[in-house]
Order: sequence, then C-alpha cells, then structure tokens
Amino acid sequence: MANKLIYFFGKSKTDGGGDMKALLGGKGANLAQMTKIGLPVPSGFTITTEVCVNYYKNGRKAPAELAVDMEKAVKWLEKEAGKKFGDVKNPLLVSVRSGARDSMPGMMDTILNLGLNDATCEGLAAATANPRFAWDSYRRFLQMYGDVVMGVQKKNENDHEPFEEVMDALKKEVGVKDDTEFSAANLQELVKRFKKLIKDWTGKAFPTDPVKQLEGAVFAVFSSWMNDRAILYRQKYRIPDEWGTAVNVQAMVFGNMGDDCATGVAFTRDPANGDNVFYGEYLVNAQGEDVVAGVRTPLAISEMAKDKTIGAAHKELNDVRKTLEKNFGDVQDFEFTIEKKKLYMLQTRNGKRTALAYVKIAHDMVKEKLMTPEHAIKSGDPEALNQLLQPIFDTTAYAAATKEGRLMAVGLPAGPGAASGAVVFTAGKAEELAAKGQSVVLASLETSHEDLRLMIASDGILTARGGVSSHAALVARQMGKVCVAGAGDVEIDYHKGTLKCKGVTLKEGDFISINGTTGEVFHGKIATADSELKQVLVNKTMKPKDSKVFQYYDFLMKLADKYRTLGMRTNADQPDQVINAIAFGAEGIGLCRTEHMFFEGDRIIAVRQMILAKAEDDRKKALATLLPYQQKDFEGIFRALNGLPGCIRLLDPPLHEFLPQHDNHKGQEEVAKQLKTTVAEVARLVSELHEFNPMLGFRGCRLGILRPEITEMQARAIFQAAAVVIKEGIKVKPEVMVPLVGFKKELDLQVEIVHRVAAEVMKATGKKFAYTVGTMIEVPRGALTADEIAESAEFFSFGTNDLTQTCLGMSRDDSGSFLPAYQNLEIIKANPFASIDRTGVGQLMKIGVDKGRKTKPDLKIGICGEHGGDPTSVEFCHIIGLDYVSCSPFRVPIARLAAAQAALRHPAKVVPPKVIKDSKAKTGSTKSKTSRK
Ligand code: PEP
Ligand code: MG
Repeated sequence: MANKLIYFFGKSKTDGGGDMKALLGGKGANLAQMTKIGLPVPSGFTITTEVCVNYYKNGRKAPAELAVDMEKAVKWLEKEAGKKFGDVKNPLLVSVRSGARDSMPGMMDTILNLGLNDATCEGLAAATANPRFAWDSYRRFLQMYGDVVMGVQKKNENDHEPFEEVMDALKKEVGVKDDTEFSAANLQELVKRFKKLIKDWTGKAFPTDPVKQLEGAVFAVFSSWMNDRAILYRQKYRIPDEWGTAVNVQAMVFGNMGDDCATGVAFTRDPANGDNVFYGEYLVNAQGEDVVAGVRTPLAISEMAKDKTIGAAHKELNDVRKTLEKNFGDVQDFEFTIEKKKLYMLQTRNGKRTALAYVKIAHDMVKEKLMTPEHAIKSGDPEALNQLLQPIFDTTAYAAATKEGRLMAVGLPAGPGAASGAVVFTAGKAEELAAKGQSVVLASLETSHEDLRLMIASDGILTARGGVSSHAALVARQMGKVCVAGAGDVEIDYHKGTLKCKGVTLKEGDFISINGTTGEVFHGKIATADSELKQVLVNKTMKPKDSKVFQYYDFLMKLADKYRTLGMRTNADQPDQVINAIAFGAEGIGLCRTEHMFFEGDRIIAVRQMILAKAEDDRKKALATLLPYQQKDFEGIFRALNGLPGCIRLLDPPLHEFLPQHDNHKGQEEVAKQLKTTVAEVARLVSELHEFNPMLGFRGCRLGILRPEITEMQARAIFQAAAVVIKEGIKVKPEVMVPLVGFKKELDLQVEIVHRVAAEVMKATGKKFAYTVGTMIEVPRGALTADEIAESAEFFSFGTNDLTQTCLGMSRDDSGSFLPAYQNLEIIKANPFASIDRTGVGQLMKIGVDKGRKTKPDLKIGICGEHGGDPTSVEFCHIIGLDYVSCSPFRVPIARLAAAQAALRHPAKVVPPKVIKDSKAKTGSTKSKTSRK
C-alpha cells in the first residue's frame, strides 16, 4: 500500500484530526482531535480504514508492511506511555477498538487489557500493589480475547455465554453472588479455568506473546466488519460495506483499580428528550464495558459530585462537556475513565438521539450559537422524523391503568413514546408475532449486540438491568423504539418463559405496556393515542403554542425550507389528505390518482357499467353518471389546495381491477344484480378483460386512447370543478397528467381531447382558467424519447414505480419473493422499489431530464413514484435537477429535510428554481403548441 497505514495521537505528535473520519474512522479522528485541543487522552495510534479495505480486497490478508509499521507504532507508544509491551515489571497494556466512519455502536469488537499473560499479570500486580485488580484485568482480557479472537461463543440463543457459565460455577463454589466479591485467589483460579475453556473449545492455547495477541486482535476487528450484526446494521442504516473500519490501539487506563477509580459514559445533553442537562452514568471501580453492557446498574453522573474521593472529577467533566460542545459543534457522547482520581477521555462522538432530542437540540444549539444551522440540518436522520408521530398513551386508558393498580415497575425512561403489546423473550417469538401484525414488547435482563434482530422486530424494549446508556437504550433510541431500561424489580426467567414483578406473572405472549417517556411498566393493554405533532398538525386538537415539540419541529422544518431547492408536493386523492399534506409542508399535489375515487360509495356501479358496456352510448351514459361524482371530488381537492397546483392523473389501472375476478363468484353475483344482467355475462366479460400481464397490458394512456370518452369525462370533471371553485373566489391550478406514455403520438391524442374539453367548459361556464397538460415518464421508451415527448408535454413527472418495474423487468407486485435474497447476495444494495436504482433507473431519469430540457429548457419535472419520500432518492432527484418531489402526506417532513440535506451536500451541481414554477399555463385558449401539432 502506498499510503500511510498508521496515524498517531499523543503527547509527542498527533498527525490526525477531527476532519479525517473517512480515513481514521470516527473514533480515531476524534481521539486525535481531542488530543489536539488539550483534553486528557491516553496516547495511541490508528490503523486506517484503507488497511481494512485492502485486507478484504486481498482475500482477508493484510498488506505486508503492516507488521513492520505496527512494530514501529508499538515502540512509539511504549515511549509515550513509559511502559513496555511484555515487561514483567511495568507492562504496557492496550485496548484495541474498532472505529468506522459513522459510529456503529457495539456492532464490532473491542478488546481491553491486551498485553497480559501470566508473567505480565504478576508484574501488574506488583506495580500496582493490587493483585486482585491484576487478576481481574487478566480474566476480562481472556474473556474478550477468547470470545472475539478465538470464537468461544454460545452456539444458540438459549445457551448461556460459555465464560459466564464458568464464572457462575465458580461463584457458586465460593459462595459469592457478584463478581466484585471474588478474591484475588478466586480470580487467579478463574483465569486458569478460562484458559482451559479456550483450549478445550478451540484446541489451541491462548497466545501469551503480546505482539501475537495484538496481531490477532487487529485482524479480529477487521473481521468484525463483516459479522452478521455489523452487516445487518449497515443495511439498516445504509452504510456502505466499502468503507471498512479503522482500528484504534490505545494505552490502557484503568477505572477498576479501586474506589478512587471509575468509568463512565456521558452525553453533553439528554439524548432522549434533548434537555440541556449533563446526562450520563458511571460505575466506581469498574472497567469500560461494564457500563455499556448493562450488567451493573450505574449511578447518575450528578451523584459523582457528592463522592468524597472522585468528586473533583465531576467538575472537570463539566468543563469537558462545555469544551466538547464548543469544539465539535454538536451534542457529544463520550467515554471517560478516572484512574486514581485522574480523568482520561477515551472517546467522543456525535451523540445518537431520538427525533425529539434531535429537533430540540437543533433548535437550542443553533440559538445558543453552538451549532451551525447547516449542521443542524445535516446531522438529522430524515427517516427518524417519523418518531415524532409515534403514539403516546391515551390519557383516559392511562389513568384507568394507573387507578387499577396495573403499574408493576418503574425503570429509566430511555426511548420516548408508548408501546403496548405481547411480551416476548426470544427473537423467534418476536418475529413470529410481528409477522402476524401483532405489537411486541421485548423484555430482557439486558440486551447485547446479538439481540439486534430481536430489537428490530419489537415495538418496545424493556430491560431489567442497565442504565440510560446501556446497549438497549442506545440502540432503541437510534431505532426510534420505545424503551424502558433498568427496571430492577422485573424478574425474567428465560427457561420458564416468564416475567415476574410485584406478584404478577406474565407468560410470553401476555400483554404489557411501557411508557418510554416516564419509565413506567404496566401489565395488560393500554390504548395509545396520537402524538403531539399529529394533534397539532392533523387532528388540530392542540394549539401550536401549547406544544413545545411542535415548535422545535417547526423551527427545524423552516430551517430546512431555507436550504432546499426542491419543491415539495404530495400524492393525495382526497381533500383531507391534501389538508394534512399542506400542514406537513406540501406545496401542491404531485399525483392525484383518480381511480381511487372510483371505489367510493355507489359510484363503483357506474364504473362497472362503463367497463362492461358494449355500445359506446351505454358507456357514455355510465360516464355521465360518474361525471358529477368526479367533479365533486375535484372541487373538494381544489378547495383544499386553495390556489396551490394540483396534478391530476387520468385513469391508469387495467380495467379488470374494478371487477370481481374469477375466484370471486359471490362478487360476480352481486355485480350481475347491480347491473341487471346474468352472472354468466359478468363472468364472460371478466374473462374477456383477463390479461396475462395486466401491468404491461391495457392500462395507462392506452385506455384513454381506445376509450376517449373516459378521458373526456375526466377532463370535463376537472375543468367544471375548476370553474365552480373559481366562482367561489378560490384560485385553481389544474395540471392534467397522462400516464404511461412511451410515444409522442399517444400524448398528442390525449392532449387534444383535454384542450378541446377545456375550451368547451370555458365557453359553457364563461370562466377562464389556467391549466397545463403533461405526462408521466414511467416506461423506458418515454425516457429515451423524452425530447420528442417534451414537444407535446408541459411537464414531466417520473413514475418511478413503473419505471423501476419496466427498467428492471421486475414486477413491482411479485418481486418480494426474490428481492430479499438479492439483497443478501448483494446483487442489489437496496430494494429498488423503495430507493432509486441510480445506475439503472436513475440513468433513464437522467436521460429523460436531459432530453426533455433539450427541447424545453424550462420544462418542469417532478417525481411521484414512492421514491419521492425516500431520503436517498430525494437526494438523487436533487442531483439530476428535478423541480420537485411528491410523496405521501406523512412523508413530506422527511422529504423536506432530505431535500435540504441534499442541497447542502450538493450545492454547486444544479441550481433549480427555489419555488416551484408553474410552467406557463394556458388561459382560455385551446391553441397551444401541443394541440396544434
Ligand atoms: C408510478 O408508476 O411511479 C406511479 C406513481 O404510478 P402508479 O404507482 O399509480 O402506477
Ligand atoms: Mg405508474
């Protein structure tokens, strides 16, 4: 490898920095940064992510220079620390930790106390005059090394951890409950047994040479980049496999040398609700992982101030808190150790937070001038905004449950919201119930990295042990799951499959309800109610001034609007959906699917009459019945839009979708009765309409071309509605959209009808209105011939649902049977129906944009496929210069934030107009360029 493999951070030199996350990983970059700004960081070095990438490229082989460079780095570290590797008098011990570009908490492996063996352990015991500490450190090292490097792990989820089993047996033998009660001699015995366990399990002896140990640990960290939970995590958070992880090797400091030592984790603000309070916890006389693993319930950081021995460190930590926020410009989540009253910083990173904390922190820190507005936008996960819509307990049901004495325990509020569901203890059960649509609440003594699958399947998480920074709490917050941690009164028996608390016993599957905002745990069901945001924006049962959550959200959304250049529209078919979408920030409708209206009330009868009519006259009669219904629908929509543009699509789906199919005899009987014909006739017509590939069959503009009276009726309904609403003094901006166009002539034929009808309506009503006619681009031919089509279209909207299915040749309805496997095999990175396949479908879009704008430079172009609400797809739409995205009402806030992030990430690429332009709409004339061709 040509590049430098190792970077140093320490007293004598620091050659990395906070801006080098891609190369040094988040942890390595920030350790270097903290060292630079004078915080007390134990010295160490970082092996770059490039080495990891290279390791995988070469079939899991490290570059030849690594061993030599590592030897030099160890020599340097020995000098820095004033200790030597393998020294029997004063041994250097190191930690070996992973560190990806984006933090992946707990997903990869860590090894502490590396450098210990029988001889150095004796040396450590003598040097510290604390044999118990030395043997405890040694047994911890064996446990981690045995697990991570040598693979001594439980074989299935119901097994106990092998090392824990050996430890539990010894606890019983010597009659102690907690490992802190072991004597030095007990721990020495435990070391012996651990070594035997490793030998028995692997057939290999534990390596005693620290250099060999380090080599093993570094490769184990590289390998952990590809462990199942890390892969799952990356899939969930869309972290590219190609990034690789860095490895940080750092001189150990100890929080477990006695009562003047401690270890802890802290956040500079509350990551659950965003409050500006110092938030964290620590354990006296403990080592790093103890806090995060949730094995012992730690003390709140505020308690430290009262501690006579280490109280001074509390003040120091408070100063560190301020320094960190000022230097890193965001809430920090940091780890520290106090060794013999001296504070050391072991890591810092931007704190993962709930959506509530995100909006509050962004609001507060921008106002406090600690965070830049750009960072406030960039640091959020758009998808997580969904959490703000998460339910809370229904007030009445909650009060009733409390009155009935169903409160069983109170733990720590670790992930806000309310969850009520079946209690589960295993991943299998959780997934089984979740697949049936049942809400589930995971109850666990504590969670570990192996439980990721189980946590994903659960709505809520309850742990008996562990604090607010425990693994469960951390991961729950990040996933937006409701979480109560450390509910100490809860007893879980995995073997019996029961949860007991205050005399109540719940079996797996029984109902439990948890309140992650207060920490309360109830047995039985409690109904949930809408979130504050929903109450303000959707139900309008709460005033904006009464909801702080709304105010923070609103601040952030307005900030996002300042940066985004993409317009925001919504896919909505009903006035209430339009109203909701506008409340969420939509600036118009990007897709109104008119067929959805056909199913309302009795009108389906007329639709069926229209479909089944043999003569044109009968068809026209049926359409005349439908027209007033459609007109009323459009009137409602125009009123709800109140002057905003509304893009209405002509009928699109294959006609059989409106009829009961072969296997639905009862339905056919009903239709026969409604239409006053025989069942046999209905069945015959259904057969006639049957298609082998209806999605590629008689649908889209093909319907309107062969049955122009349908287009005519819909156009008439749109324009008559426009005339009515204009009369009420409300502005209307109809945009008529033709679906599934692949040939310019298809569009021409439809455009002609629309213009003719518009002119007729204007004449009949005496009202003039502006409107445009455009097309969806949703088949490859449409994109490839966009230059021709643009001659007849006043706007384009990418129908990426169909464009994906036709570009990939994968049915949008049937691909579920193989797409998950395709993802696992990494044939595709993400579901192409959820996130735009940039290289394939994206290329067609780019061609469509370029060719369309070659013909009409200011052609308005949007997207209305499902991808319009997917953050990475929104980013792509920004990059290729679309004017707007359109998505379902509840995804509008997500798209708003994603669009702002895209604008900040790709500022120079395109400069689309700030506000959606209404491309020159015609008024009162049928003589458009399009209709004359
Ligand atoms: C599309 O194909 O992307 C689209 C929006 O149309 P529909 O989903 O109704 O086919
Ligand atoms: Mg479509």
